[in-house]
Amino acid sequence: MSATNAHPPASLFIGGEYVEGEGPALDVRYPYTGEVIAQLREASPAQVEAATRAAASAQAEWAALRPVERGRILSRAVQIIHDRAEELARLETLDTGKPIQETRVADWPSGAEALEYFAGLAATVTGQMIPLGGDFVYTIREPLGVCAGIGAWNYPSQIACWKSAPALAMGNAMVFKPSEETPLGALKLAEIFVQAGMPAGVFNVVQGRGAVGAALVTDPRVAKVSLTGSVPTGRKVYAAAAEGMRHVTMELGGKSPLIVFDDASLEDAVGAAILANFYSSGQVCSNGTRVFVQDGLHDAFLARLAERCADVRMGDPLDEATQHGPIISPAQAEKIRAAIASGLAEGARLVCGGPGEGAFIPPTVFADARDDMTITREEIFGPVMTVLRFTDEAEAVTRANATSFGLAAGVFTRDLARAHRVVAALQAGTCWINAYNLTPVEAPFGGVKQSGIGRENSAAAIEHYSQLKSVYVGTGPVEAPY
Ligand code: NAD
Repeated sequence: MSATNAHPPASLFIGGEYVEGEGPALDVRYPYTGEVIAQLREASPAQVEAATRAAASAQAEWAALRPVERGRILSRAVQIIHDRAEELARLETLDTGKPIQETRVADWPSGAEALEYFAGLAATVTGQMIPLGGDFVYTIREPLGVCAGIGAWNYPSQIACWKSAPALAMGNAMVFKPSEETPLGALKLAEIFVQAGMPAGVFNVVQGRGAVGAALVTDPRVAKVSLTGSVPTGRKVYAAAAEGMRHVTMELGGKSPLIVFDDASLEDAVGAAILANFYSSGQVCSNGTRVFVQDGLHDAFLARLAERCADVRMGDPLDEATQHGPIISPAQAEKIRAAIASGLAEGARLVCGGPGEGAFIPPTVFADARDDMTITREEIFGPVMTVLRFTDEAEAVTRANATSFGLAAGVFTRDLARAHRVVAALQAGTCWINAYNLTPVEAPFGGVKQSGIGRENSAAAIEHYSQLKSVYVGTGPVEAPY
């Protein structure tokens, strides 16, 4: 695929087919070159409504299938994703600018795993029978109806899969709005679902900026909203969803701590800090961007980190050797550069990296930073790591928790008792001990505090895409007072 033929047949996918958008133009640019690779149109308000209508009318039939049949269709989609793996990885690279060596192993493969997992789980979901000594109650786990999915731009296809897999497995239908920066992958997913035998209208895609997302959230047919995005957007979407008492899942931003104790393996801790900050050019929500390193290891850690970062291969994302790609957009690159400038202005020491050029910002490490600096407090969503020195365990935990975010956290130590004690005290939804940023579908993923509500992946996601009905069954005479 050349960088110029990423045009989908049309911009939206409604009721089982491609439909051209009737809203404003939406150009898709390849972040590496800035070249327009697809010219889309946003959905008009009437098309958002058409999509939720298509979803609502398909949902009952979809929910009436045996769960094993829904699972079979999702499994076929998994197979198609594997068969088209190279084409999908290249499209993801064009859409996001992420290196092909990442998109081959991380994006669609992780999305396919979610579909595989929930395909298998669909038929295992059962209710309860609650005996009452004669009478009894049974429970039914029912779908919610039409779910709206709204995605961020950093893992567009993975996000579409992570949201649709549990939703569809449980018998819901979905209208998905990808980020306006990366609209292409979700259309492929819609196409693949139909190819796998999914009834028309079960999974629909509308395109657009925030206003289209907002229209989707307040559509009267929408029973649940699952958003992946920033905290400010999360607040707006949560409030809008509350007006209609809709269910929500909020996967939001973070400023996660990675705590490295003196006794950690230096090489592993440095490797984890690299993975926790620079994968996908640092555009990962769960990144451990506040790296607390204990006094005894601090200087060796920084020296080794700078040495390893000097080896990074930046460049053409379609080149298999490239490890570090461009930033998604000039606007985002500008925000990251402003954060780097603020780090320098507030007195942090630049160990390596810096503002870079054009679309590229190299792995950037600050040391001698304070907890009150902007680079330590605010999510940058770029390849910028802040290293902070600490002396003892209690201090590290207190400082790690001194943030309104709570998405993730990591601890590196060879002392396992300490590792468990520290993660128990950390305020974060997802923690790693001697690892970082691994998010297998088997494990619940999500945040606490401002970083979100609800969980994706694992069996825990089932309850976020279903509701319980209690059925009381009377087996004796009815005794009325009069
Ligand atoms: P964003 O908040 O700007 O946008 C997210 C999505 O919300 C986009 O599709 C956007 O069009 C839509 N949107 C914007 N305003 C809306 C509104 N009023 N109503 C409905 N929809 C609206 O986020 P982004 O810049 O695309 O992504 C980066 C952010 O996402 C970072 O903060 C990052 O940490 C977070 N993120 C979180 C996770 C997670 O799983 N926790 C994963 C990836 C990214």
